[in-house]
Amino acid sequence: MNQYDVIVVGAGNGGLVAACSVAKAGYKTLLLEKHNLPGGCATSFVRGRFEFEAALHELCDTSTSPEADSVKKIFERLGVSVPLESEETLFRAVCPGEDGFDVRLRTGYDNFLADMEAAVPGCHDSVKALLDLNNVLDDAQDYMAGGSMNPAVLISKYPDFVRAASSSTDQVMNALGIPKKAQQILATYWGYLGVPTDDLNCLHYLSLLAAFVNSAPTMPRHRSHELSLDLVRVFQENGGEIRYNSEVTRFLYDKGACVGVAAGGDVFYAKKIVSNIIPNNVFNRSPADAVGKRDRKLANARELGMTFITFYIGLDAPMEELGIDDYSVFIMNDPDNRKQYNHRLDFGMYVVNCLNKVLPNASPEGTSMLFFTLPIMPGDLPEDLTAQTYKKFKNEFAEKYIRDYERVMGVQIMDHIEELVIATPVTFARYLATPDGCIYGYSNARWDSVVARTVAEPMELRIPNLYFCGGHSVRGDGYPSAYITGAMAADKVIKALKEGK
Ligand SMILES: Cc1cc2nc3c(=O)[nH]c(=O)nc-3n(C[C@H](O)[C@H](O)[C@H](O)COP(=O)(O)OP(=O)(O)OC[C@H]3O[C@@H](n4cnc5c(N)ncnc54)[C@H](O)[C@@H]3O)c2cc1C
Repeated sequence: MNQYDVIVVGAGNGGLVAACSVAKAGYKTLLLEKHNLPGGCATSFVRGRFEFEAALHELCDTSTSPEADSVKKIFERLGVSVPLESEETLFRAVCPGEDGFDVRLRTGYDNFLADMEAAVPGCHDSVKALLDLNNVLDDAQDYMAGGSMNPAVLISKYPDFVRAASSSTDQVMNALGIPKKAQQILATYWGYLGVPTDDLNCLHYLSLLAAFVNSAPTMPRHRSHELSLDLVRVFQENGGEIRYNSEVTRFLYDKGACVGVAAGGDVFYAKKIVSNIIPNNVFNRSPADAVGKRDRKLANARELGMTFITFYIGLDAPMEELGIDDYSVFIMNDPDNRKQYNHRLDFGMYVVNCLNKVLPNASPEGTSMLFFTLPIMPGDLPEDLTAQTYKKFKNEFAEKYIRDYERVMGVQIMDHIEELVIATPVTFARYLATPDGCIYGYSNARWDSVVARTVAEPMELRIPNLYFCGGHSVRGDGYPSAYITGAMAADKVIKALKEGK
């Protein structure tokens, strides 16, 4: 009988943690994954002699609070054990030109402040005030995570939090008197969040920045696929059943409550269903009358978050020989990040990572790997692209960016390319089945911040028995958010099952 306590749809980061957590609590759990591998974005692939990381630039904990849940605590609780290598430098930001900069920022609170001060003399105190604001935000988030959040208490006890949470990053940096050049350097991480800092919710930006600064970012030795495989191990050791090549094509309802799913010609029933797939795709797979009008409107009102064009490059020479010095380099053609965003298909901003810097043996001896990431928005690809012109478009695009990288960084890599794989939103749409190949769920614009989503959550997506987790969920995008929302969804499911609801 295909009857379970819990069915989890999608084995991305959120789905894996949700599935492990409920299985570990003793519930009969089925995890259904469309692909033949776990992990969603958190995976790797092999071309020739190279195993490329598909997504992860670096793993960070979004919370620096001792109380709030963190990836580290979730992994410890579940028994996930994967060695992680730390990075010492957060990034190098390169913006050529008279008004530009070329700065390396180290991880660690004092190092970071010292590097910022060296780059922009006089900015130390205002940048420190920005980092310290994160402690207030953490306290408030602990209060909110307590489960009985009262907006009036939040406003009176944590006014800075409420102000920051409803302000753009630029508004907060201006209020703190951070010099313009320092703001431009600090804004570098917009490239990981997809929203320029004049619209980027400050809370979201600050929790990312503080996490990177305070706890060194890390990389798993065997790509993020290793993390996904270890989560599958934990799930199976706790009695969980995983089925690959099992795309959920329908969500099933009885008297308005979600009671099961259809996948691969079979039908499965459960007391609770956790969706790691974006609400839009759940609604598309549900009968029209099962989803409330408000939920449909909400899914349509939200803007899809960013996506990427990525190039994965295997080089036939070591990084040192090629003159590549850094793990993460953000290259920008203008110091103003709104302009970078507006010119995102024309060298606005792109990131180049060399995994060998963190993991010297990441590729065979005498070789190295580069990972180019260009933040773009869903719908950015040319409308007239066809199956016939797609390959030409991708190749020309990659060539122009590789040439730009060579020019800006003064290195020569073109003649050393042994493998080149180019992914676009079309690739991500194919592998993740997300609308327009978005990889980050919904955009974290000011009006749709973590706080707004948390406060509004009880009023949203109110289909009985159906829970959501993943990058599209309350905490926004990224590995930590997806893992944490997986744990949050599992907690709710376990509580409801215990109470017999
Ligand atoms: C190129 C790239 C670089 C990135 N870099 C970073 C980074 O450096 N740091 C960071 O924190 N984040 C990064 N991210 C973002 C991060 O990977 C995602 O936010 C996070 O992994 C999303 O996890 P998720 O739980 O939402 O699941 P997803 O990864 O979206 O996985 C969802 C899973 O559901 C499956 N699925 C979909 N539809 C169905 C269906 N109908 N039935 C069954 N299964 C289905 C999919 O196959 C997939 O396995 C990056 C992403 C990409 C693509």
